[in-house]
Amino acid sequence: METELFVINDIEKDHDKLERAAGLIKNGSLVAFPTETVYGLGANALDGQAVRRIFDVKGRPMDNPLILHIPDMLWLKRYCLDIPPEAYKLAERFWPGPLTMVLKRKSTVPDEVTAGLHTVAVRCPNHKVALRLIRLVGAPVAAPSANISGRPSPTKAGHVLYDLSGKIAGVVDGGSCMVGVESTIVDLSAKPYKILRPGGVTPEQLSEVLGPVGLDSGVLQAPKDSETVKAPGMKYRHYAPKAQVILLMGDIEKAAGFVNRLDRETTGVLCFDEEIPHFKGKYILSYGKRDDYAAQAQKLFHCLRALDEKRVKTIYARCPESSGVGLAVSNRLLKASGYQIVEV
Ligand code: AMP
Ligand code: MG
Repeated sequence: METELFVINDIEKDHDKLERAAGLIKNGSLVAFPTETVYGLGANALDGQAVRRIFDVKGRPMDNPLILHIPDMLWLKRYCLDIPPEAYKLAERFWPGPLTMVLKRKSTVPDEVTAGLHTVAVRCPNHKVALRLIRLVGAPVAAPSANISGRPSPTKAGHVLYDLSGKIAGVVDGGSCMVGVESTIVDLSAKPYKILRPGGVTPEQLSEVLGPVGLDSGVLQAPKDSETVKAPGMKYRHYAPKAQVILLMGDIEKAAGFVNRLDRETTGVLCFDEEIPHFKGKYILSYGKRDDYAAQAQKLFHCLRALDEKRVKTIYARCPESSGVGLAVSNRLLKASGYQIVEV
């Protein structure tokens, strides 16, 4: 299959391209498109057969449910039941934006989307191209990250093409994603409400609306086999480049001393801007200042892919504090590393 590329420079001038892309989705094909978090692989969420294609193409386990993307909160009641008032408060404050809510589902949502769960995840993305595309489709769009399952999520159209060219009908290119990591997921289907995945909306921001909100134990720890995993995606190794990622904890002098003794051809480093002068290797990338979690989130997946292109075998990564958006960055790095940490 030839993958058609729709480059959008101006949403009005390029409206015809978005109409063609929406037409493909309406016909049951898959089209990747930009959101503010990462690129999504879109299918008409009400078409079970189209949704199954997402799992095929990504190699995604069928028990890992998808998020419905909707253009505004008025669509919530079409697909969700027993919506608590807090859901509307959160939507008013954070939509469009990087917040996904898990709510009780209506039977209008195909089983393929929810992996048979009695809940459904819904979000309204903060991206003009995504919103226009969804409105043109006229149905909710199921859209997991547009990468091969397990790989770093795509934050540019080029990343999508690298993973999926020839396997999907189209890619809408709307430039780089601003947030760079996936949405925050909050489970409102049962009390106490809980964050299942950290993202661009922070726990601190959520608690301004919800009061104290819990954090699923899987966010910063490996889930125990015996534990029932609430968000099924949490049990898989995720976001991982081909190289082995190892988190490099501890003081920068010692950390750099440790890495600088290793083979420069096969070792990559992902660190903060201020740390660059300490490292002597060949493949050293920084992903933002130590305290600039938003910059780190935006560049994280791109940097992991860029280090893979250098064919390094191991990537030693410096990890931010787990506060604010730093929590989402640490969570992605932990999962990418399969919980491999060296403490120097
Ligand atoms: P992504 O792979 O980035 O599209 O994220 C989708 C993630 O949302 C899945 O991996 C699940 O962890 C989570 N999710 C989707 N639907 C549900 C649901 N009904 N209940 C709990 N988590 C869900
Ligand atoms: Mg994903």
